[in-house]
Amino acid sequence: MAIEKQPSCEDDEEPALLPVDVALQRLASMVLPLSQTETETVGIREALDRVLSSDVLSPIDVPSYTNSAMDGYALNSRDLPAAGEVTLAVLGTAWAGRPLEVTVARGEAVRIMTGGMMPPGTDTVVIQEHVQALYDTANENLQGNSEVTHIIADGTTAPGRNVRQAGEDIKAGEKVIATGTQLTPAHIGLLASLGVDQVQVYRCLKVAFFSTGDELRALETHAGQALGPGELFDSNRHTLFAMLKRLGVTLIDIGVVADTKEATRQAFIDASSQADVVISSGGVSAGQADFVSATLAELGKVTFWKLAMRPGRPLAYGKVGDAHFFGLPGNPVAVMVTFYEFVQPSIKRLMGCTETAPAQFTARCESRLKKSPGRIEYQRGIVSAAADGEVTVRVTGKQGAGRLTSMAMANCLIVIPAENAGVEPGDPVTVHPFHGLM
Ligand code: AMP
Ligand code: MG
Repeated sequence: MAIEKQPSCEDDEEPALLPVDVALQRLASMVLPLSQTETETVGIREALDRVLSSDVLSPIDVPSYTNSAMDGYALNSRDLPAAGEVTLAVLGTAWAGRPLEVTVARGEAVRIMTGGMMPPGTDTVVIQEHVQALYDTANENLQGNSEVTHIIADGTTAPGRNVRQAGEDIKAGEKVIATGTQLTPAHIGLLASLGVDQVQVYRCLKVAFFSTGDELRALETHAGQALGPGELFDSNRHTLFAMLKRLGVTLIDIGVVADTKEATRQAFIDASSQADVVISSGGVSAGQADFVSATLAELGKVTFWKLAMRPGRPLAYGKVGDAHFFGLPGNPVAVMVTFYEFVQPSIKRLMGCTETAPAQFTARCESRLKKSPGRIEYQRGIVSAAADGEVTVRVTGKQGAGRLTSMAMANCLIVIPAENAGVEPGDPVTVHPFHGLM
């Protein structure tokens, strides 16, 4: 008698598996941004990593006054000769922050420093290296320096050169940062440069998370103690904590939950009453001790997905009351992969971000990667620049779904499409870096 085999995660082609892009599309239609009323006003230093809930319009012109881009002499371009040289009288010096209160007439010029305000009557700066300066040697100061009284210039400087016009970078009233932007250090500096000290942002998202599994020992109670047979330290909750912290959400740690129906139920009620998003790890496969999906079906609306991906085939998504729920697999690497690919974009979308897809680029793969067609694969990689300047990526050794070391060495995921049948050294591959650039 032959054994009748059931579909399993060992299969590459399993008819019921849901392609990752389809799952992402379904998620995007169910996970909607916070409403425009759920906002607060914060100081710009508190606004780092927060998401703008209204456009920032510039209250001023930038630069706010027409100024010199170089050290030199401000003059009227009509004084510059088509051929030969001209001698101009120098009226004084315009420093940055100390304008010279004069109107420059024909035949006159003003010495000007970078950032100095252009005096009325001038439109061009001739850099100091391009003039011959004449000094008032009869009136030396104590340091033995004397004032420039005249300059001799030629016609080689084009009219308007070396001048930054008021409003050249930004016009007053112009949109500078759009709603839905997650603010980076450059945005904080930009806001300050406009004199803006407060902005409107969406409120912080509250995310609750817990681990499931009778085999797990929590660090809070078991750190430094010997593990009993069949026991292991709970790592997923700490990985989740760290990944969520990077997203700038408010964290609610529910702890380790035992593999019983009652404990799982209680954890869901506890988490969903406090949070916008609930994340669990473990207990979502079809095992006897897997209570997450069953509990969810009882308490809320759950979709249990078998994804065409490796690692991380089982994933549950649903709603418990108003809270969005993500049931991640138990395997530590699968937790990280499903978090980066599914949970992170969803949380960003809920936070009001308009940019939610993971950053991605193409790199030249230096490793040979074994793969059979059927499921999209996320291998752990290290991207770096090769000697020729090209971006290359190599795999971080053995790729077992439980090996957190392969993840800890990595700085990106190498994403290999479902239909791909293996990567040869030199092939271009798609890479998702773990962190953004800023
Ligand atoms: P499960 O999906 O609950 O069957 O878990 C799959 C595998 O991941 C098992 O080997 C678990 O022991 C392991 N695992 C589950 N949760 C955790 C956790 N929080 N920390 C470390 N390993 C875990
Ligand atoms: Mg389990």
